Amino acid sequence: MIPIAKPYLTEEEAKAAHDTILTGWITQGPRVAEFEEKFAAYTEAKFAVAVSNCTTALHLAMIVAGIGPGDEVICPSMSYIATANSIKYTGAKPVFAEIIPETYNLDPVDTEKRITSKTKAILLVHQIGMPADIDAFQKLAEKYKLKLIEDAACAVGSTYKGKKIGSHSELVCFSLHPRKVISTGDGGFITTNREDYYQRMKLLRQHGMSVNDRVRHESSKVIFEDHIEVGYNYRMTDIQAAVGIKQLAKLDWIIQERRKIALRYNDMFKDIDCIRLPIEKEGYFSNYQSYSIYLKENCPVSRNELMQKMLDAGVSTRRGIMTSHRETAYKNECAGLSLPASENASDNSIILPLYIPMTEKDIQTVIDVFRSNILPK
Ligand SMILES: *Cc1c(COP(=O)(O)O)cnc(C)c1O
Repeated sequence: MIPIAKPYLTEEEAKAAHDTILTGWITQGPRVAEFEEKFAAYTEAKFAVAVSNCTTALHLAMIVAGIGPGDEVICPSMSYIATANSIKYTGAKPVFAEIIPETYNLDPVDTEKRITSKTKAILLVHQIGMPADIDAFQKLAEKYKLKLIEDAACAVGSTYKGKKIGSHSELVCFSLHPRKVISTGDGGFITTNREDYYQRMKLLRQHGMSVNDRVRHESSKVIFEDHIEVGYNYRMTDIQAAVGIKQLAKLDWIIQERRKIALRYNDMFKDIDCIRLPIEKEGYFSNYQSYSIYLKENCPVSRNELMQKMLDAGVSTRRGIMTSHRETAYKNECAGLSLPASENASDNSIILPLYIPMTEKDIQTVIDVFRSNILPK
């Protein structure tokens, strides 16, 4: 069976975890500090705060952006549900806007239509690693005095107009879940160019504690901490950070290898006219966290039939990105909401296996199985 994805982890990551355990410092400490410096440098951001996952990263970003009860935050429905949930945690309301079918990313025109006097922020997702049009949303944010927060869970290493995702906005959130391009088991980051946000997020992720464990540990004088505000335990551990440091060093190579496979798929499927392949416009560079194909109306096979046939032939696939407004958790409050572009894209797209190392034989099997099941017999 060819899996949909696999994290790329080696003896090097295993040894880093092993060695860290033996230092005796296993939760947030020196390895986390080192990983933060390296992650900020990589993403071309001033500061990076390591946290337990991207969902907690998004929650902290919402808090420092000042989002709270009574506010509205515009985000795509077609995204992993954590996007909308992070808005909910603050007591604010997620307002779902449409996507552009070609890129699955938020549509700035539809977003503008949904801005009200209650709108406080836009949560922009770079879907499956393909950057959204950040400039268009920065313009909207300026025009209506909104905060722009990026959900870059899938987009570490992607670039927009020559600069790394993480460097463009005040608050950009990343995931290190195994389904993403690099992983620490679970893990997340917020990058920011604002010192005040940076300092507050470091407090909030560790119970609002004024002096962290490491500073107390290293101090020759007795010092007591104060808890300045009600915070959270959203820490990353040093074991995870040690693994992450090794992963980050390989990221550019991982992306290069992923792109070779994605471009190969593009090339092998370009003659099939009932599908739409991923589109990477000039100035956009994707890490290909996922490779998604849209099945047009004239496709001889339905998406679900195609998934079953490919599974029968030993190739696992996934449905396209979900829509949040049709999930049970949101169904009631979204009764009557229709998002035809998002629903259509979600229901008619399929994600193909893409991981490294992927053998030549496996790549060819995916190509052959996809072609033989999508083309009319
Ligand atoms: C995966 C994902 C998340 C959640 O990331 P976790 O690290 O698992 O919390 C949030 N938003 C998007 C768009 C994602 O793809």
